[in-house]
Amino acid sequence: MNKRVVVVAGGGGFIGGHLVKKLLDLGTCHVRAVDIKPIEDWYQVSPTAENFAGPADGDARDFRVCRTVCRGAGDVYQLAADMGGMGFIENNKALCMLSVLTNTHMLLASQEAGVKRFFFSSSACVYNADKQVNPDVTALAEADAYPGLPEDGYGWEKLFSERMCRHFREDFGIQTRIARFHNVYGPEGTWRGGREKAPAAVCRKVIAAKASGDHSIEIWGDGTQTRSFMYIDDCVEGIGKIIDSQIYEPINLGSSELVTINQLVDIAEEIAGIKLQRHYKLDAPRGVAGRNSDNTKIKSYLGWEPSISLKQGIAATYHWIEEEFRKECNAADAKSLATSGYSHGSKPIPGDGYVAESRHMDTWRQGIPVGYGKPG
Ligand code: NAD
Repeated sequence: MNKRVVVVAGGGGFIGGHLVKKLLDLGTCHVRAVDIKPIEDWYQVSPTAENFAGPADGDARDFRVCRTVCRGAGDVYQLAADMGGMGFIENNKALCMLSVLTNTHMLLASQEAGVKRFFFSSSACVYNADKQVNPDVTALAEADAYPGLPEDGYGWEKLFSERMCRHFREDFGIQTRIARFHNVYGPEGTWRGGREKAPAAVCRKVIAAKASGDHSIEIWGDGTQTRSFMYIDDCVEGIGKIIDSQIYEPINLGSSELVTINQLVDIAEEIAGIKLQRHYKLDAPRGVAGRNSDNTKIKSYLGWEPSISLKQGIAATYHWIEEEFRKECNAADAKSLATSGYSHGSKPIPGDGYVAESRHMDTWRQGIPVGYGKPG
């Protein structure tokens, strides 16, 4: 019997790699994994998947690639995006917006191929910035994405692509599902190089401090900013539940365990058995002041929400990064890995039109009429 064909775009990335593995473990489908990165750079390579790797065969901005991979497919999971942690998205807004090509072409090719279900990985970055100005947050419910004032660049693209999924469903009948991921972390993901997110960066810095003997840590912002973090196993389980559901509107997929960045550092220190001197880098990208996931909707639809504790998840992540660190680094590298940088541009797009002044100012409000948001 022919197995159902399932496409995972972004299959060489962090979440995509775990999703491919989970789908293969189920044993019921033939998986096509697609990623623009050369296969040696994929976080996980599943030899039993059909892998489309590199700029020629795996660039989902290219409609011909999308057509090839979607042909005969039943489900498509669109996870491919040029993205990273706050340092990356605040410094690469144009690149982040170019993911609109990937989303548009994957959706068009899926619709053309008669794909049954299309899953889109959106983000908590779509939420209105005015609702995230206080570290003592009210968790974000799905309706809080409007009126639109999302994260510049990355968030605007995600919000636009969410709408595109909705209109493709309404006008063409393709069954789209949209999950807004909130900070996903875990093993087999980015932990160095400028695209890593806070949990991996904090683990790496603690490991580096231990290895170098310099017992200090640099923290971006003042450490009081709050977030929730979802462990990868919860994320993959949630993706499966959402695609199998009849939830057509965007839905949060995130943990509701709120912590400050200082508390995240406490957890990593406890796992490492070390106490570090904290230095706060106040001019570093820090994102919104506070953000949490309101899980009322997912609980009411699915009777489920992510539940793996931050302590448990960070322990697994810390030990994986420690292993990678041992394989790749020596004590001399440890010093440089104790801080974070951020990259500009990315292969294969050279784009280095870097304008320093626009990096850290609040460009969200540019173009918004005077008086916006005021009553009356
Ligand atoms: P990741 O960077 O590890 O994976 C994304 C993958 O997409 C990368 O391997 C990248 O090479 C690939 N890619 C980029 N452009 C491509 C293109 N043109 N064609 C084919 N592949 C391309 O990131 P991730 O954490 O696995 O995120 C997966 C998805 O989830 C993304 O859409 C991301 O925006 C979304 N998301 C992630 C988080 C998180 O915390 N990790 C939070 C919110 C949303």
